[in-house]
Amino acid sequence: MFFPPHSDLEHFLQQMPVLVDSGLLQSPIVESLSYPLFVAHDVQVDVLRLDRLHPVISGNKWFKLKYNLVHALRNGQHTLLSFGGAWSNHLHALAFAAQLTGLKCRGLVRGEELDANANPMLQDAQRWGMQLEFVTRSRYRDMTRGEFVADDPGVCVIPEGGDNALGVLGCMSLLPADTGELFDQVWLPVGTGCTFAGVRLALPPSVRVQGVSVLAGEWPRQQMEQRLRQWRLPAGSPWHLLTDYHQGGYGRVSAPLLSFIAEFGDNTGLQLDPVYTGKALFALCDQVRQKKIPAGSRVLFIHTGGLQGVRGFQNVAG
Ligand SMILES: *Cc1c(COP(=O)(O)O)cnc(C)c1O
Repeated sequence: MFFPPHSDLEHFLQQMPVLVDSGLLQSPIVESLSYPLFVAHDVQVDVLRLDRLHPVISGNKWFKLKYNLVHALRNGQHTLLSFGGAWSNHLHALAFAAQLTGLKCRGLVRGEELDANANPMLQDAQRWGMQLEFVTRSRYRDMTRGEFVADDPGVCVIPEGGDNALGVLGCMSLLPADTGELFDQVWLPVGTGCTFAGVRLALPPSVRVQGVSVLAGEWPRQQMEQRLRQWRLPAGSPWHLLTDYHQGGYGRVSAPLLSFIAEFGDNTGLQLDPVYTGKALFALCDQVRQKKIPAGSRVLFIHTGGLQGVRGFQNVAG
């Protein structure tokens, strides 16, 4: 690793029995995948099962949140405040984590027409004690564009998606320590890019990090360049963001994507969500099919979670 493990922050978490008991502090497991396409092209694909870490908290969201929790608790803050859309995995995870650690929390949700019963994700969040506030789209844009400052110093403000420096630091700790020796490539879906940045920064240059953007447009790549420069990523650390697999944009799906998710699940037993992990694995398969990944490669795919949000698509579809 290029950065020292954040032992001091981890130590703080280890002192909290409720977190130890929750299983959230365990290392995620790696499983190998057997899928005919990969076998045919001699590409080994293993999966880092962040989705299996905890039954409620979505995979990567825990890693983005954990040091923010430490920060709030150490500073004697009483409330966590953050932002998200009605189906936000981040707000859902935040509500649960706050309840677990005894902090209060507020969720500012985009869409003043909504209420807490709008969907099961918001119902969960409210049940766990999150105070939900529904704001107009323009107000939401204003609040999330600049640096939102709470009037009360006891309120810890966490940006949309949990994307801040502590979030990146947390994501630097999500890979098993031997990833650099065991794999040539690491693949993952990219929303804000926080998880991707942490993963790239944590790995040696021998590993190529491949992100699949779930948002339409080329700007995520430019933003990532800038972000990694700020974090002083050592030169020659290979990474790439694929920007052609968003299927129409964030939260949009295509018929080929949905049939891929169903077929892949039947074949391998691995459940994928259509917003993040489905798009990323669809991209990986497409790149294998196009022989863009050399035979003999060892690939680690990060299953970032997100399966609690699948309910939304089942509702829409059914
Ligand atoms: C939020 C989320 C992501 C995106 O993570 P970023 O750090 O925002 O790029 C990926 N997968 C799942 C399942 C998520 O919930």
